[in-house]
Amino acid sequence: MPRHDPAFAAWLDENVMAHKVEGYAAVTISLKARGAIPGDATGEQMKAVADIAERYSASEIRVTHRQNLVLPWVPQAELYAVYQALLAEELAEANIGLASDIISCPGLDYCALATARSIPVAQRLSEELREREQREDLRGITVNISGCINACGHHHAATIGILGLNRAEQENYQITLAGRADEGAQVGTILGPGFDADALPGAVHRILDTFQSLRRDDENLADVYARVGKEPFKQAAYPALENAA
Ligand code: SF4
Repeated sequence: MPRHDPAFAAWLDENVMAHKVEGYAAVTISLKARGAIPGDATGEQMKAVADIAERYSASEIRVTHRQNLVLPWVPQAELYAVYQALLAEELAEANIGLASDIISCPGLDYCALATARSIPVAQRLSEELREREQREDLRGITVNISGCINACGHHHAATIGILGLNRAEQENYQITLAGRADEGAQVGTILGPGFDADALPGAVHRILDTFQSLRRDDENLADVYARVGKEPFKQAAYPALENAA
């Protein structure tokens, strides 16, 4: 396989999982293109994925709770062919497990129960986090967004959870930190007052800056939070009280 192709090598590293059957791999198709709506695919892309699954993955496709697709039976010898087929459909984003692999519920754009929009927030963060991932390691950080307290976006189980609320008829976004959905599952802790949509990305970046400055070795954000507590993140997120609603 042409590992000298850096884009293919990145896709192998981020999107391809080991398989318990020798000679096979499981491929996750990211539905998190930069700036796109999380979990969306066009009809043409869906038909193309069906064709790829039929040809290379025993006709099987699975949908993950992180709003991506998995081809669970790809022969290792066919990985480059699958990558090229996905690339042709703009489905080869190599960001599974990175911060830009955002979960978002439909929010106020489509859901009658919503108190705030989720999708535009996810799109802006996707742009900015994908940019950030070009220069730093944001593996193991989950960013999940819900448009109301029903929590369909699982914000409470994310490293950085975002809950859209309505405060005095204004959309307002509350951040929770250090939620986990792994063996050490826990609900995230509310960081403080919410932010308006324009101030929210800056707060997320300052939280990530704090994480990067405090992390040791391969700690993830939840590990750092468990070690140092909320205060450093809170101080970073609220440098000026006028940013907080
Ligand atoms: S979290 Fe709220 S806004 Fe989002 S899909 Fe669920 S009910 Fe709708």
